[in-house]
Amino acid sequence: AKYVYDFSEGNKDLKDLLGGKGANLAEMTNLGLPVPPGFTITTDACRIYMQTGEVPPELRVEVTKAVRTLEDALGRQLGDVKDPLLVSVRSGAKFSMPGMMETVLNVGLNDETVDGLARFSNNERFAWDSYRRLIQMFGKTVLDIDGDKFADALDHAKKAKGYTADPQMTAEDLKELVGVYKAIVREETGKDFPQTPRAQLDLAVEAVFNSWNTDRARLYRRRERISDDLGTAVNVQSMVFGNLGEDSGTGVCFTRDPSTGEQGDYGDYLTNAQGEDVVAGIRNTLSLADMEKIDPKAYTELRQVMRRLETHYRDLCDIEFTVERGKLWMLQTRVGKRTAAAAFRIAHQLVEEHLITLDEAIERVTGEQLSKLMFPQFDAHAQRTLLAKGMAASPGAAVGQAVFSSPTAAAWAAEGKQVILVRRETNPDDLGGMIAAVGVLTSRGGKTSHAAVVARGMGTTCVVGAEKLDVDVVAKKFTVNGTVVKEGDVIAIDGSSGEIFLGDVPVVPSPVVRYLEHGLEAALAEVGDDEETKELVVAVDALLTHADSVRRLGVEANADTPEDATRARTLGGEGIGLCRTEHMFLGDRRVLVERLILAKDEAEQQTALDALMPLQRGDFIGILEAMDGLPVTIRLIDPPLHEFLPDFTELSVKVALAEARGDESDEAERDRMLLTAVNKTREANPMLGLRGVRLGIVIPGLFTMQVRAIAEAQAARIKAGGNPKAEIMIPLAASVMELHLIRDEAEVVLAEVAKEQGVELDIPIGAMIELPRAAYTADRMAEVAEFFSFGTNDLTQTTWGFSRDDVEGAFFNQYTEKGVFSVSPFESIDTQGVGGLVALAVEKGKATRPDIHLGVCGEHGGDPESIHFFHGVGLDYVSCSPFRIPIARLEAGRAAV
Ligand code: ADP
Ligand code: MG
Ligand code: MG
Repeated sequence: AKYVYDFSEGNKDLKDLLGGKGANLAEMTNLGLPVPPGFTITTDACRIYMQTGEVPPELRVEVTKAVRTLEDALGRQLGDVKDPLLVSVRSGAKFSMPGMMETVLNVGLNDETVDGLARFSNNERFAWDSYRRLIQMFGKTVLDIDGDKFADALDHAKKAKGYTADPQMTAEDLKELVGVYKAIVREETGKDFPQTPRAQLDLAVEAVFNSWNTDRARLYRRRERISDDLGTAVNVQSMVFGNLGEDSGTGVCFTRDPSTGEQGDYGDYLTNAQGEDVVAGIRNTLSLADMEKIDPKAYTELRQVMRRLETHYRDLCDIEFTVERGKLWMLQTRVGKRTAAAAFRIAHQLVEEHLITLDEAIERVTGEQLSKLMFPQFDAHAQRTLLAKGMAASPGAAVGQAVFSSPTAAAWAAEGKQVILVRRETNPDDLGGMIAAVGVLTSRGGKTSHAAVVARGMGTTCVVGAEKLDVDVVAKKFTVNGTVVKEGDVIAIDGSSGEIFLGDVPVVPSPVVRYLEHGLEAALAEVGDDEETKELVVAVDALLTHADSVRRLGVEANADTPEDATRARTLGGEGIGLCRTEHMFLGDRRVLVERLILAKDEAEQQTALDALMPLQRGDFIGILEAMDGLPVTIRLIDPPLHEFLPDFTELSVKVALAEARGDESDEAERDRMLLTAVNKTREANPMLGLRGVRLGIVIPGLFTMQVRAIAEAQAARIKAGGNPKAEIMIPLAASVMELHLIRDEAEVVLAEVAKEQGVELDIPIGAMIELPRAAYTADRMAEVAEFFSFGTNDLTQTTWGFSRDDVEGAFFNQYTEKGVFSVSPFESIDTQGVGGLVALAVEKGKATRPDIHLGVCGEHGGDPESIHFFHGVGLDYVSCSPFRIPIARLEAGRAAV
């Protein structure tokens, strides 16, 4: 193998082998830009070092050769006492890991070459400054000495002379400091600072390899989902000096503003400085405009290089440079990181400048970035008091009065107050409170807990699992680090960061949402003369419009109410992929469900159902009207019925108390009957129990009632001149036989209603595929089902055997830590296992019914990575919560280019 590449041998596409820094140094070299010569040691060498604990033997030979080439090119030699070659040893992995790994400058200096450098540069101060920097950096990164020891010694030396800044130190001062530094090295390591340049070089290379595996580097990689086995490359580069005097300096710059995307050059420059001085904030930096005044020639050249790099990379570039006695040198470039707003603006600018196509532009932005732009955000400049941090579950910035129960939330909201519902965790009973609240905060649960899923679905700001919070709903307060927050106290929660603040924090609204809801013209009119925001809105419009024009996947919404349906439509939804019917059994209608369950015979049962039917029909008419002309996939009732009944424990207590009192009232009698019924329907694992299609089969008339409500709603809408497109979806079926049973019943009802109403009813019947058996037998399922909708939440739960309500907090952290998966399979689809079942079902379903309509309606329908997967396996549409529709549109477009 070849372990060493001269800068002239690489190029920007070799990041795997040369790391980002090395690949781009090579690219710049080959562009003819002024790059100090050097070479790159490959990531292969690092990987071998990590496996064996030793550098591969051939590496030493290759380095010797490469150093010789460098020496020949520059006419200087490593260790030459008269005119020494000095190099930097720089880490550089495939993905940039800012500040995570090490770099050593001025390698090659020792007690003798420092004099050579002084003579040759005619600058003694500079030579000794370089030497003390080497010992400091080398001591810290290679010899593992606490960096503070050197920093303290430097401070001490300055203070002793009454200096305020580094440049005041004289050559003599620095000479003395070097002595102190060397003593520190001897004291801390028991050895002298290594004087042989080649030994310095080899040790520094190994130190860079080792820096790949520091705790902070590992932690960073885990967070950024970068693999631990990539390894880092090492760049050995001849030194140029920004610390030779006032005609020298060092700086960083961007070809556009990475925080706003504004066109123009942005950067910081520091004269008479080296390396990290700029970012370290030791001295106040100058702007590029200042640099132009100080050194117009170097500045003009820098501007030219910036333009060149931008047109070459066709993107925002981030650059490190140094000026040595008026001569510009390029030390690093890469495609720069940027904020969400900058990403959209820059991508659009580059299209306008004809540097990239619209296809490329939508690849430069992500759905996640779009979602960041959609939520109002806390003003980062405002004063605020952080209480604690939980998990960011549903983005947004919410400010309101803390309340600790759902009824209070609803009551206060009805009075026009803004409230934040604070609970240990939420359950279906909290729905009303969650709807009323501007934000939801829980001390328990993970990103797929009830609170998180429901809040995301509603687009309500939510922070979950803030474990530091001691929530006492009875006393109506929570305590955190000694602060007590009582009912009515104002708090603010940031659903994008998980932060919880005490008191009010001002928010800034999102112009992007105004655009999505009201269109470009209206949004621009509102923005007024804020050019920055205008440009952002125009960019979002251009990119989203393009995504719509190229995407193959349809985007539908999960919506249960006419309001949600309308919102989904406004945001570009092309139908409802999942209309849940369970909320139609809540609230006032609970009594009817109770009656259904308490019924002594079929007649009583039918009476209860007959009372529910018109109510449901009304619900459906509203939704079909809001989605007129677009498909509305209505799922028959899914959850176990006990969810609609009172809590077992509470009811037991109530009945026991009544008994103790000798209460014989009708109500007590009813409670007793209810308790018997609740007890009878109680299940150990309700999620694997009597729910979905099983309910339809076991409780005669339940599904038929719903089908009738749907059919009559469709008929009513047709008669009203509408174009309703209801579809019936059967949940949790595992076998084709279940589908047969329900379908036969449903068809009878559909035919009856068609006849009664005198209209034609074309209502497809399909199946939710959410059990492994259903996926595996999809060819059979497709004999009955006219469409499939993959319910990937349950499919994940049943495929992995994870209870989605319990696992997240319990052990998922360890699972991610230990690499079983890098992200929860409930968040992003497990493409191998669960995804494999989806792919299999697609294939089998199509084999039976080539034109079968295929969609997905789990949480994954709104997850960018999952959307790309669904595009790949050939689904027809994804369905997600209304707020994620724009994100899904963009990602579906990105998947298609
Ligand atoms: P990081 O990845 O942390 O930015 P770098 O390898 O880029 O680390 O180096 C740290 C600093 O040292 C940067 O400011 C860089 O410009 C400077 N530097 C690196 N190599 C040289 C060199 N050969 N000559 C002058 N300065 C250098
Ligand atoms: Mg750098
Ligand atoms: Mg399900």
